[in-house]
Amino acid sequence: MSEQDRTAVGFRAGLEDDAQWLNDLKRRRNPGPRSVHHRAVDPSLGAATVAVHGGTYEDPVTGAVGTPVFQTSTFLLDDLSYSAFERGATRDVPIYTRYGNPSQWSVQEKAAALEGAESALVTSSGMSAIASTIYALTNNGSHIVTAYDVYGGTYNLMREDMPSAGREVTFVDSTDLAAVEAAIRPETQLLFFESLTNPLLKAPQLRAIADIAKRHDALLVVDNTFLSPVNLRPLDLGADVVVHSATKYLNGHSDVTAGVVAGSRKFVDRVWAQALRFGGTTEPLACYLLERGLKTLALRMRAHNDNAERLAAFLDGHEKVLAVHHPSLDHYPHQHLREDVLGGYGGMVAFEVAGGDDAALKFCSALRIPYLATSLGGVESLVSLPFNTSHCSLTTAQRASIGIRPGLVRYSAGVERAEDLVADVARALETI
Ligand SMILES: *Cc1c(COP(=O)(O)O)cnc(C)c1O
Repeated sequence: MSEQDRTAVGFRAGLEDDAQWLNDLKRRRNPGPRSVHHRAVDPSLGAATVAVHGGTYEDPVTGAVGTPVFQTSTFLLDDLSYSAFERGATRDVPIYTRYGNPSQWSVQEKAAALEGAESALVTSSGMSAIASTIYALTNNGSHIVTAYDVYGGTYNLMREDMPSAGREVTFVDSTDLAAVEAAIRPETQLLFFESLTNPLLKAPQLRAIADIAKRHDALLVVDNTFLSPVNLRPLDLGADVVVHSATKYLNGHSDVTAGVVAGSRKFVDRVWAQALRFGGTTEPLACYLLERGLKTLALRMRAHNDNAERLAAFLDGHEKVLAVHHPSLDHYPHQHLREDVLGGYGGMVAFEVAGGDDAALKFCSALRIPYLATSLGGVESLVSLPFNTSHCSLTTAQRASIGIRPGLVRYSAGVERAEDLVADVARALETI
């Protein structure tokens, strides 16, 4: 295939400016990467429209309505490839799938459009997205501020790997603005928080934290897994980079492991370069599944939002339930979230049943609809107990000190009929 052939089918985008070297942070950058056949959508369109159409590869040869699966590890070398090597623009031309592949670009364009970002990167897992981002955006000798209750994998990375890589980490309560600001040092480069925490659904004030980050010349990275861009767009609130475990809501069917990073092309290029070295490539076939899942994101989130709200309303005040954690409830402590969200609060609801962890185990085994499994964000409801899963390495007292009291149940509401989920929970509560 000649350069003219590939140019004719649209693989020129990204080389049109005077791109010099990738690591020249001042060079002008185009959004993407994308070819002219990756569908660009008007960012003012609603999330439901963007989710369906953003990034679809419109195949000029066959006219296929969906993105083909570009199941290949490598691409023909031609003058375009050599010129990309020479100009440090290898992110913009399909050369080798670890560097980029049109199937990845489709997912990336869709995710970027949903998050309101210039560029996105799809990775092999949420942890791959998080690790690549943190390493790429910090240097040896720097300092990071994060929450003591971040996702377990992130916590371990921050605690185990960052210090040995020359990054010091301070863990704070992300909902305590004064504590966040007090933790900042002259060498702080990165603040890393989750838009909604696991399992207690605490919401940091992202707007105010973004201001703090800017004032101290640090970057704010937000893990938006629990809310999804249908419910909250951290970049709009001032965050610099958003990361996701796409394994959860973005894919939505509990059948793919993947991650997403979204932000300005400048930052995502740096994360891409790091991800290249770590090797967290997403298989084209996984991209196909993820793109298919993403098309219904807005539709699914409506059902997740509704179902969790209905469950929270039913559980709140139930005689066998001691506490319910959900942002829709009047006693929810982080009311600012109501102003930040676009749709709802996602499908998670956490509650404490009377009788402690034994009663919680009994309750879970009496449920007939959800599967007893970790993870979240799938169309099927899932239920798990923090005490014997995510937080089993803590003592009962340590768990209590971070608000995880005996009997706490974490329920990930799927997209089933709300009445069925509520009736199932009601019946299971009667068994304890
Ligand atoms: C699951 C999860 C991750 C990790 O994602 P993987 O796809 O399992 O690597 C990171 N952050 C949050 C909030 C998660 O729920």
